[in-house]
Amino acid sequence: MGMISDLVVNISLLISFTFVWHQLFRHNRLTFSSSLTIKTLDGLLAGILGIILMHYSLIVNDITILDLRHIPVVMVAFYGGFIPPLIAAAVITVGRFLIDVNFSSFVSLFMMLAIALGAGVIARVIKSGKWKKWTWLLIYSQAVFSLALFIVVDEFNQVLDFAFIHIISTMVGGYMIFYFVDYIRTNSERYFQYKENAELDALTGLYNVRSFDHFYNTMIVESIEAHECCAVCLLDVDHFKQINDTYGHPAGDEILQQLASLLAGLIRYEDKLSRNGGEEFSILLPDCQQEQANLIAERIRGAVETYPFTLPDGQIIRLTVSMGVSAFNGEPGGDQENLYQDADAALYQAKQNGRNSVCTPR
Ligand code: GH3
Ligand code: MG
Ligand code: MG
Repeated sequence: MGMISDLVVNISLLISFTFVWHQLFRHNRLTFSSSLTIKTLDGLLAGILGIILMHYSLIVNDITILDLRHIPVVMVAFYGGFIPPLIAAAVITVGRFLIDVNFSSFVSLFMMLAIALGAGVIARVIKSGKWKKWTWLLIYSQAVFSLALFIVVDEFNQVLDFAFIHIISTMVGGYMIFYFVDYIRTNSERYFQYKENAELDALTGLYNVRSFDHFYNTMIVESIEAHECCAVCLLDVDHFKQINDTYGHPAGDEILQQLASLLAGLIRYEDKLSRNGGEEFSILLPDCQQEQANLIAERIRGAVETYPFTLPDGQIIRLTVSMGVSAFNGEPGGDQENLYQDADAALYQAKQNGRNSVCTPR
């Protein structure tokens, strides 16, 4: 009964620790191409988890303990290749020597080294099939652990029940923890992917119109709270249909991407640049007065006018944009209701004036 509850404790520790671990590294998940810092941190954490697991070991005899310390090591090998398991093994070895220094702890040193190196190889060599790869990692690490047990006990026959329980717990705990880790990793990858799809425009990577709405409303609320001006700047490419008609739609897309990068380089950090649809862009300018917004718009108009856009065939073309700029003074009950409409009307005015110009509401 004692053995079984130790195992349950080991498995529960693995799962709860892994959950916190994942939350901490949600934005920096361990992969083969992670930075050395991330690989080191994950190795250290795996090592600490290994040490915690060792404190809930099956006591086989005065010098020998069995637990699931190898599982965090093969886990970081699975995702991170060679470096993290080596660091984890080093940490666990130090932890093992802190428990006691005897023949078993020296055997454990070589055992951890063998597990870390072998796991690194398996993780690198087996490319396809995550369950296949994980199974080999479990079998390999368990084989090394069982071999170490065989080396340290004189009468292996007398510890067969321990050896057996240990193998069972590696397999049960190992598959459970991998199912859990794989599940939370896959789900958070999807979450970030869907979030990006929902917020960004697929062609240019700028914010989409949905984000624009959100930022627009937020900007007005904050502007009223801070009694600060804010401005909206709408931009529409002149005669863009001609570009599509002359050079083809893919070339038009290419030009829109170049325009997006050009614009992104011309705004302040706090400004929000969106593609509101087609060849229409917008810039939200918090803490910005009408005169300042006009200057920014004029600078952008001039920059686009002189920018050499490159077609897919290498040909250079020029284009121009029309812009409408409108500001809000931050006073509640002011003209915030019409901020967007005013900018849109100003843009229309700029088109009427012959394009390649910036207009403000009259
Ligand atoms: P104006 O100066 O009056 O703005 O003329 P325009 O031709 O730019 O205006 P219009 O709104 O009539 O045409 C916009 C064109 O933009 C129509 C469409 O072919 C093109 N367009 C819209 N979205 C995309 C896109 O995602 N990719 C490409 N390549 N073209 C697009
Ligand atoms: Mg348009
Ligand atoms: Mg246009």
